[in-house]
Amino acid sequence: MLLANIAGMYAVWHGPKGLRAIASRIHRLAALLAGALGVTGRDFFDSFELKVMRSGIPGDGAGETAKIIQAAVAAGYNLRRVDDETLGISVDETTTREDVAALLKLFGHTGAPVEALDAARPCAIPVTLQRREPILTHPVFNTHHTEHGMLRYLKRLQNRDLALDHAMIPLGSCTAEAQRRRRDDPGVVARIFARCIPSPRSTQAQGYVVELITGLENQLKAITGFDAVCMQPNSGAQGEYAGLVSIRRFQEANGQGERNICLIPKSAHGTNPATAQMCGLEVVAVACDDSGNVDVADLKTKAAQHAANLSCLMITYPSTHGVFEESVRDICAIVHAHGGQVYMDGANLNAQVGLCRPADIGADVSHINLHKTFAIPHGGGGPGMGPIGLKSHLVPFAPGHFLPSPQPSP
Ligand SMILES: *Cc1c(COP(=O)(O)O)cnc(C)c1O
Repeated sequence: MLLANIAGMYAVWHGPKGLRAIASRIHRLAALLAGALGVTGRDFFDSFELKVMRSGIPGDGAGETAKIIQAAVAAGYNLRRVDDETLGISVDETTTREDVAALLKLFGHTGAPVEALDAARPCAIPVTLQRREPILTHPVFNTHHTEHGMLRYLKRLQNRDLALDHAMIPLGSCTAEAQRRRRDDPGVVARIFARCIPSPRSTQAQGYVVELITGLENQLKAITGFDAVCMQPNSGAQGEYAGLVSIRRFQEANGQGERNICLIPKSAHGTNPATAQMCGLEVVAVACDDSGNVDVADLKTKAAQHAANLSCLMITYPSTHGVFEESVRDICAIVHAHGGQVYMDGANLNAQVGLCRPADIGADVSHINLHKTFAIPHGGGGPGMGPIGLKSHLVPFAPGHFLPSPQPSP
C-alpha cells in the first residue's frame, strides 16, 4: 500500500509533463549510450544489452566481459552479466551525463563528447510505440506542483484519515501496532537503504547480510527459542503461507500428505483462514468463550474428531484480545497428541519478549510481524517483514532461497 502511495504521489508531484520529461531524459541517456556503443536493431526504453566480443570469435568475450564488469564496479557502477559475451546496462532518473561519459570510457570509447552524441542520436522508440493520447488528465495530477501546494494537499488527506493521532485505530487484532513514525524514516528517506538494488553483489551488501540479516536472525532466535529463522516472507500473511507450506511438506515427507484439516479459533485474524485455504487446507473453526479465549473443550472434541486428518492449529498468542491465555500450553499439547502441528500467529510477539518464548510454549513455527510490533520500516522502505521461526524438524521444509553466504567483515 505504501509503495502504491509513493508511486501515486510521485505522479501527483511531477504531473504528466514532469513524468514525460523524466522519461524522455532517461531514454535520451540510454539511446546515446547505446548508440555510441554500437548497439543497433533493438527497441528499448531504459535498458539494453550489449555484445562484448573483441576478436569476433564466439566465446572470446568471456574474459573481456569479466574485465569490464570489474572495472565498472571499481568505478562505482554495476553492469549486468547476461552471459559470457553479453552485458546489460540500465539507466534511470538518477543517471547523469557524467555517468554516461564514465561508462563510455570504461568501454574504451574515445569519440565525441556526450553533447555531440546527444545532437546526433535519434529517439530509439519507434513511432508506432510512442504514446499519443494524453496521460494523467485528472486535476489531482495537474494541480499540486509547488512545495506548499503539495504540503497542503497531503495535510488535507491526512486530516481525513482516522488514525492514532485522532482516535483508537478500529483494527482490534494488532494490539501493539503503535510504533514510532520515525521508524519509517530509514526506509523511506535514507538513500543508503533505498538505493540498494535487488540481488546486489555480496561484496556490496555486507552490512545487510552480516549486520542486518544474520544479526537480526540471531536476535529473533534468542527471543523466540526457535532453531532457525527464515527471513524471506515480506509480511505476516506471507509468513503464515511459508509456515503452513513447511508444515504440509513435512507431513508429506512423513507419509502424512492426507492431513488437510486446519483448526482456527473464531477470534483469529482474517489472514489465518485465508492462508489455510491457499495451502489447500480445510478450515475447522474452534469456538471461543465470552472473553474471547479458546474453548478448550471444543478444541479437544474437534482435534479428536479430525485426528486422522489433522494438519495443524493456527493460534494467536497473546490472543487477538490481548490476553495471555492460560491454557495455551494445554492447547498445543492437545494438537500434538492428535498428530498435528502448531502454527503460532506471532503478530503480538513483542508482548512475550523477555517473559516467555513461542518455541517453549509448544509452537512448531511462528511468524513475527516485524513491521508492526517491532521497528522494521513499513512499506516505502521495502515491504513489511514477516520472518518465520521454525523448530528443527521443519527447517528442511522452509523456503529455499538464501542470500549469498556472508563474508567476514574486514
Ligand atoms: C496483521 C496480522 C496478520 C497479518 O500480517 P500482515 O503483515 O498484515 O500480512 C496476521 N495475524 C494477526 C493477528 C495480525 O494482527
